[in-house]
Amino acid sequence: MTCPSYHPPDEMLMAYGTGSLDEASSLLIATHLTLCRRCRIEVERIEAMGGGLLDSLAPESLSEGALARVMTRLDGPPARSRPPQTAAVAGMPAPLWPYIAGGVDALPWRRVGPGIQQVFVASGPIARARMLRVAPGVVIPQHGHAAGEMTMVLRGGFADAGQTFEIGDIEVAGPETIHRPASDPEEGCLCLAVTDGPLRLTGLLGRLLNPFLDL
Ligand SMILES: [Zn+2]
Repeated sequence: MTCPSYHPPDEMLMAYGTGSLDEASSLLIATHLTLCRRCRIEVERIEAMGGGLLDSLAPESLSEGALARVMTRLDGPPARSRPPQTAAVAGMPAPLWPYIAGGVDALPWRRVGPGIQQVFVASGPIARARMLRVAPGVVIPQHGHAAGEMTMVLRGGFADAGQTFEIGDIEVAGPETIHRPASDPEEGCLCLAVTDGPLRLTGLLGRLLNPFLDL
């Protein structure tokens, strides 16, 4: 398996490794880690660093309650404390299984534009995770982002601004990003996207499509 070329921002890996990331973002990072050895090593390093810090604290410097809270914190966010005995979903990374039980095709997909479908899989007060299914050769109308979005390829791929994103690759878009991604002409694209702010579509088609995106 080839390693992904585009990775999550370092601060996301740091937040994940210290158990302080929200559920939707944790889902995306955990899924990326199953596909990316480089980031797995980095998270292991961060976790070891966190464990070392905890060990270096004298026991009497933490009250019993504080220690329990720290230990709970180290157990990670809800995304990682879900029951692990979820049935496997063929062809999909394990962290996604609890969110897509029954399989990708059985999800309540909603059409949001020509050749574009989406379904929300995890919503929280900070960020929301959705899956996007784009038919082959579809160009997503030019759009901007009011906040941040990370989009990771699960199947197929897409091209954007001269870069090609394949399985495991993450495109990070911020408030300054205005782009027009195009799905793979043969395979289309299945993506996991985490948005921490509303999407803002620009251009005429974008403005027409905007009400349907419900973001
Ligand atoms: Zn990576």
